[in-house]
Amino acid sequence: MKNKVIAIVLAGGKGKRMGASVSKQYLLIEDKPVLYYSLKAFEASNVDEIVIVAEKGTTEFCRTNIVEKFNIRKVSSIIEGGAERYNSVHNGLKAIADADKESYVLIHDGARALISVEVINKTIEEVKHKKAVVVGVPVKDTIKVVDENGLVVDTPKRELLWQIQTPQAFLYEEILAAYNKVISDNVQGITDDSMVMEYSNIRKVNVIMGEYENIKITTPDDLIYATNTIKKM
Ligand code: C5P
Repeated sequence: MKNKVIAIVLAGGKGKRMGASVSKQYLLIEDKPVLYYSLKAFEASNVDEIVIVAEKGTTEFCRTNIVEKFNIRKVSSIIEGGAERYNSVHNGLKAIADADKESYVLIHDGARALISVEVINKTIEEVKHKKAVVVGVPVKDTIKVVDENGLVVDTPKRELLWQIQTPQAFLYEEILAAYNKVISDNVQGITDDSMVMEYSNIRKVNVIMGEYENIKITTPDDLIYATNTIKKM
C-alpha cells in the first residue's frame, strides 16, 4: 500500500516510578489495562496498522488479554522491547517489513492513555505535509535550568518552551536512518524520537498543538487523574 501509516505503540517499559508490581501499561483503569485506551484510539483513527512493542516476556499476555480480548484488529505484530525506550522504538522500526519509501510512522507512548482520535488524525494530516511532526503544548509554568547544587543557572524564555508529548511522526525511511545513526554512534540520554531526528539532522522537526490532558501515566497521581478523566468521558 502506498503512503501507508503505521503506529508503533510502546509498552516496553517497567514503569518503576509507579511503584507497583505490575508494569504500568497493564494496570487497570475502569477494569481495562492502561494500554487498551491508546490502542482503542489508534484503532478508531486513520492509521492502517499498529505494531505493539511489549515488555520482555509479555507479548502473549498482551495478545490474549488486550488485543484479542478487545478485538483490536489493526495490530499486525507484537514484539519485545529493549533496555531503554529508544531501543524499543528501534525494535519496532526494524519489525516493520513491508513499508515503502512513502510510508509514515507514528510513535506513541502506550502510557499516554488519554490520547484522542482527533490528535492522532491531525498528526497524520500534518506529517503528510511536513514529514516530521511532534505533538506538544506550550508550558504554563516558568521553567528553570537548575544545577546539581540546586542553584538556578538559567530561565529560558517561556514563550519558546513546549512540553513535548506523543505521537511523534516521521517518514519511515528517515526515522529508521536516524535511529540507525544514534545506535551506531552510541548516543546516550535519548528520551524522545524528535531528539533522534535532531541528532541525525536529516530533517527539521515541526511541533503541532496537542492537548494538555494527553499526560504520560508515570506516578500513582497520574493514574488517578487518568481514571477520573476516563470516567467523565
Ligand atoms: O519510561 P517512560 O515513561 O519514559 O516510557 C515512555 C513509554 O515508553 C512508555 O509507554 C513505556 O512503556 C515505553 N518504554 C518502552 N521500552 C522501554 C522503556 C519505556 O517501550 N525500555
